[in-house]
Amino acid sequence: MRPAACGRRRTIGTVLDYHLHLWPHGTRASQPTLEQLAAYCERAARAGVTEIALTEHLFRFRQADAALRGWWDDDPDPALRVQMAGYWDEHVSADLDDYVDAVLEAKTAGLPVLLGLEVDHYAGRMGEVERLLAGYPFDVLLGSVHWIGAWGFDILENPIVMSEWDNRSLESIWDGYTEALEELADSGVCDVLAHPDLPKVSGRRPAVPDEWYERMAEAAASSGMAAEVSSAGWRKPAAEAYPAPALLARFRKRDVPITTASDAHELPDVAARAADLRVLLTDAGYESLAGFRTRRRYALAL
Ligand SMILES: [Zn+2]
Ligand SMILES: [Zn+2]
Repeated sequence: MRPAACGRRRTIGTVLDYHLHLWPHGTRASQPTLEQLAAYCERAARAGVTEIALTEHLFRFRQADAALRGWWDDDPDPALRVQMAGYWDEHVSADLDDYVDAVLEAKTAGLPVLLGLEVDHYAGRMGEVERLLAGYPFDVLLGSVHWIGAWGFDILENPIVMSEWDNRSLESIWDGYTEALEELADSGVCDVLAHPDLPKVSGRRPAVPDEWYERMAEAAASSGMAAEVSSAGWRKPAAEAYPAPALLARFRKRDVPITTASDAHELPDVAARAADLRVLLTDAGYESLAGFRTRRRYALAL
């Protein structure tokens, strides 16, 4: 049976879902099938999403393990090092070449899917990341900051991670995060800043984050990266899309291009709240979205 293509149904205007995972956290990776990718497209189409990008975490793949394992060793806190090593081991279970082949096969079958990855910031090691990814035909690479040192601050279900939220000031958390984001942007390895204000994930955030918003917007603008508007924050204690309206306004002011995303880790969340994201963007004054092909950006009318 030929898989149904995204966009076969009437759309409500251009919205993309450029941030999708195949495997929920805490589960082993399994080889993606054409049926699974077709189901993602079908679900997206129902929400008016015409194109999706598969962006599995780089740390899922054995090739990343071989190149980057032990990056957490510089952190002075032994509990955080052990926690991160365990998290890493729990996630490494897939082969990057097989993943790339599966997405390319879906493209060949006519599904409107892009080949992407969610690439993390590895302090001081982005050159190694770049070498690891060279030679693959990626359409779009998301850049994410998921950890400050070895502290994976958004792993909210882990008690060691959560107790660290009590040990640090919000100012030092936002500072550490923003510094990592600046290094990531500066590296030029990725195309889109994913969930730009992720440190609000736990629901605790500084009363006046303007200073950090300014730095994030500057990092995006000066690196030429796009930024992502994501519905995932609505599913977290933050209870707000990424980025906050005040940060989105700063992106707009500096003409930072925007992609839209659900950050789904399973089918029911694919294209989640796509219509709400569209409203956020039009309210912020955006008239176009950033699409990507072979890591080249182009504009689509919103
Ligand atoms: Zn992420
Ligand atoms: Zn993600």
